[in-house]
Amino acid sequence: MTDGTRTDPLDDLRAELERLREQSLYRPLVVMSGAQRPRTTMNGKPVISLSSNNYLGLATHPRLVEAALAAVRDLGVGSGAVRTIAGTMELHEELERRLAAWKGVEAVLTLQSGFTANAGVIPTITTEEDLIVSDELNHASIIDGVRLSKASRAVFPHKDCDGLETVLRDARAKGGPRGPYRRILVITDGVFSMDGDIAPLPGICDVAERYGAAVMVDDAHASGVLGRAGSGTADHFGLHGRVDVTVGTLSKAFGVVGGYVAGRTHLRDFMIQRARPFLFSTSHPPAVVAACLAAIDVLEGEPDRLARLWTNTRRFKKGLVDLGFDTGISETPITPVIVGEAAVAQRMSRRLYEEGVYATSVVYPTVALDKARIRTIVSSEHTEEELATALDAFARVGRELGLIG
Ligand SMILES: *Cc1c(COP(=O)(O)O)cnc(C)c1O
Repeated sequence: MTDGTRTDPLDDLRAELERLREQSLYRPLVVMSGAQRPRTTMNGKPVISLSSNNYLGLATHPRLVEAALAAVRDLGVGSGAVRTIAGTMELHEELERRLAAWKGVEAVLTLQSGFTANAGVIPTITTEEDLIVSDELNHASIIDGVRLSKASRAVFPHKDCDGLETVLRDARAKGGPRGPYRRILVITDGVFSMDGDIAPLPGICDVAERYGAAVMVDDAHASGVLGRAGSGTADHFGLHGRVDVTVGTLSKAFGVVGGYVAGRTHLRDFMIQRARPFLFSTSHPPAVVAACLAAIDVLEGEPDRLARLWTNTRRFKKGLVDLGFDTGISETPITPVIVGEAAVAQRMSRRLYEEGVYATSVVYPTVALDKARIRTIVSSEHTEEELATALDAFARVGRELGLIG
């Protein structure tokens, strides 16, 4: 670009960006000053935040902070290698043992993020001989994991166990107990990230078992939220031993960063041999691992946090419904306020921000074109007064936009 003769081969991206702006689908980055707390500062303005996944306030919990600081002093800031070369510290193995005990499984393998856990495990345990059957609203990282696999694919309608059975019956109709497939892997989110609804896991396990299929659950939004000590969807439904692969994140309720794959010992061992993000990307720094270990201590030692999360969830959801908002089918702290058009959602988010409430809009392609929404997530750390203040802002802005009476 120095002499003006070279044309920019990426110039077309500008027109694409312009189109996104015109369609109200452009997402500007909002910058936070200070820490991730219920009251924080976004783009220079103090706000009550309803948009983080920091469900239990662990991102700033003193025990996690102290554990991270101590690990940095003892072990430095980086692990220096991928796990299979020289990057497995005792701390990594300790975290995996603790996670396995907390999840109630034989073994856990941690990865850099929940995204890489999905992108790692799905193509590692499936081949061109297999079939993957995925809920139509599964997370983008599951979709990408499926794309990385050579397996055949099918989608079942959202949370529809009969629809799932139809797919498996069609497969079987091609001959053999699992049709022509060596393995069938059924994948569902435990908690769906945009609607906050819970997968019908008992029904999914029943159907999968009838057809000899393996079950995989992505517990990103269930970890730290559902089940004993927040141990996830399988525990919530009492399905221990019936879920073959669980993916989770250490980036949401855990308040840190990372992902994991939980299941049997041979699943972990096989991942160590073959999962590409595990083999070719550096392991977590000690501070991350130590903070995650402290997070398990807090999950198991401070059950009142989980109780407060659910009290706040019920309080805030009821407040929105009483005001007349459409909160969809949410059953968890993720509560959407569905408004329809993308432009309305963006307008509402902007007005809420002016009123001191940070709640982001979610628009196509993350959700369907006509299901644009404000997505809220309360945490255990929001005070009753903060939630009341936020609801007042929703009431004012909702009336102004004609969404409620
Ligand atoms: C957030 C999320 C992930 C990704 O987790 P990260 O640790 O942020 O990479 C995966 N699956 C689901 C369902 C999620 O909501």
